[in-house]
Amino acid sequence: MIRLALPNKGRLADGARELLERAGLEFDMRDRALQASLGPDFTALFVNAKDIPEFVMDGAADVGITGADLVAECGRPLRTLLDLGFGRCRLAVAARDDSGITSIADVPAGARVATVFPNVTRRFFEPLGRAVTLVPVSGAVEIAPHIGVADIVVDLVSTGSTLKVNGLREVATVLDSTALLIARPDAFTDADDTARVRELTGAIESVLRAQGQRYLMANVPRARLPEIKRILPGINGPTIIDVLNAGEYVAAHAVVAQRDIYRTISQLKEVGAQGILVTKIERLMP
Ligand code: AMP
Repeated sequence: MIRLALPNKGRLADGARELLERAGLEFDMRDRALQASLGPDFTALFVNAKDIPEFVMDGAADVGITGADLVAECGRPLRTLLDLGFGRCRLAVAARDDSGITSIADVPAGARVATVFPNVTRRFFEPLGRAVTLVPVSGAVEIAPHIGVADIVVDLVSTGSTLKVNGLREVATVLDSTALLIARPDAFTDADDTARVRELTGAIESVLRAQGQRYLMANVPRARLPEIKRILPGINGPTIIDVLNAGEYVAAHAVVAQRDIYRTISQLKEVGAQGILVTKIERLMP
């Protein structure tokens, strides 16, 4: 069994679980939900997202899903197998609205920086030649500049509304983060394990590829097929199927980017399409 470390709670837990389920892996929960079998080849270990980089690096798990921010903070040379796209946020430098700090250049030498990410923060400020004093905290970072514990913060931001509510202004981005599927650099020397992990990454990729794509079906006039082919590029061009008793109509099926659906439907209607149907795609394997 290959051990896959997953966040047990918090912002990344649901995203990781949903992605794996959509990839066709079923969770069989037992042992008080600390562990689950996941399809025929994997055991899911539910642990703190923050511990996952170390657990994977040390061999307690073979692969893991956690945030790029936590992988960076851990600082160990993990291998990214896939960027999973969810859990998007950025680690940002923020200062009090009334501080007069609007860019990194305004950060005074010796400024105290409160953060849950001391290693990433140190690596960010060092090459800028700006000596800062780290104030490691374990949460509620936004309060630090208001209680005199720090001058600025380095904290995770997604929409920026939490910073705003707490009277802070974002002044620089330290790093952008999403959830990653990670492994040790030297993992999987065994051919069977390599094949199983490749199957896992392939299944997840098929879900990621399907996001933002739609399957479009329409009955179209056979006489307008040259125009239909231009409107519906699809993966290998549209699939054209005869429709029983449909006279001069044939069915056209194609994969269309979600952002193009509105325009594509208007264009199809212009050339006489009928019975247009758009559905989500679960997985897409080219
Ligand atoms: P947790 O602390 O367990 O909820 O997980 C936090 C992880 O979720 C972070 O390390 C990020 O990778 C990710 N994340 C995504 N958006 C945010 C956000 N707005 N604030 C904090 N963490 C976020």
